[in-house]
Amino acid sequence: MITVLFGAPGAGKGTQADLLADRLGYKKISTGDALRKHIRSGTEVGLKARSYMDEGKLVPDDVLLEVLGSELLSSGNANVLLDGYPRNTAQAEALGALVKSKGIRYCIHLDVNSNVLVDRISGRRTCSSCGSTYHITYNPSKVFGVCDRCGGDTVQRPDDSEDKVKVRLAVYEQQTKPVLEFYKNAGLYRRVDGTGTTQEVFERICATLNQA
Ligand code: AMP
Repeated sequence: MITVLFGAPGAGKGTQADLLADRLGYKKISTGDALRKHIRSGTEVGLKARSYMDEGKLVPDDVLLEVLGSELLSSGNANVLLDGYPRNTAQAEALGALVKSKGIRYCIHLDVNSNVLVDRISGRRTCSSCGSTYHITYNPSKVFGVCDRCGGDTVQRPDDSEDKVKVRLAVYEQQTKPVLEFYKNAGLYRRVDGTGTTQEVFERICATLNQA
């Protein structure tokens, strides 16, 4: 089964997906992490994606479909959490066609007010090695600058700078938010309040996932 974790940049998708993977054994697929890995490895996909990501824009759908397809292939029969896909309605349709057999369980919308988002993103630090995310105030790593999970360096992503964040939030409003209507129409939409502590949000998500 596939669960889509949906929300604006900074809504907490990555943090919650990591928790759900650690505590409940879900397999997290983050298309942003996968693209960053391609960039670090200098693959063709990485070369195609880089300029879009640097500008805070969406990478073209055909590139994403290739990335998602190979991530899903390597996930076997695990319960998958999608973090960062779909980001427009064409991608939502493509996902439906791709995962027919596994099926989509829910689209969980982490709903967070836009003024909270900027605060969260500007304090976010990401492990340059494994992609784990932290926040300098709300969820710091145990040792400043060092990832708790793998010991890699935690840094501010280039697209988390203030000017890029504005572009990404505008892209979310214009292109990504309509995906919610898609899942509402399919009866798969579930709203979760994304404000509060990491643990509070985690418990709300678990309560939703436990619904029959
Ligand atoms: P994220 O780590 O999810 O915030 O994604 C970082 C960047 O990767 C986004 O701003 C986009 O440039 C690109 N990206 C990630 N997922 C997608 C997607 N589903 N469609 C298009 N671009 C994406």
